[in-house]
Amino acid sequence: MNTRNTKQKEIILNTLRQMHSHPTIMDLYEQVQKVDSSIGQATVYRNVSKLVEEGLVMKIPTNDGVDHYDGDCTNHYHFLCQKCHKLYDLYDESFQSVLRKIEKNNHFKVNRVHLILEGICRDCE
Ligand SMILES: [Zn+2]
Ligand SMILES: [Zn+2]
Repeated sequence: MNTRNTKQKEIILNTLRQMHSHPTIMDLYEQVQKVDSSIGQATVYRNVSKLVEEGLVMKIPTNDGVDHYDGDCTNHYHFLCQKCHKLYDLYDESFQSVLRKIEKNNHFKVNRVHLILEGICRDCE
């Protein structure tokens, strides 16, 4: 991989990490454009898929048919509001113990969790 590619990937990852809105590729692309307008949409797509594979970016598939992305790969879960379609972060330790129990009872090792709770958020209620 040449230096330019590495640099682009870095910009894309850093931009995503600064966004806490769980952007779609289009949202991310718009933001990346502000940092470096030479980075095209295809480059953003390609790099984000790579970053997901490498485990540096979390992909959040939602029912609206568009994937959302998260630069925060620490263990957390999401709440999707069915009204405003906003994705909220959930940091809840209690789920961790449920997870450990599932691993223990089934002799599984869980590497990734995709958990989306859906409902109505506090702003929409
Ligand atoms: Zn809402
Ligand atoms: Zn998140």
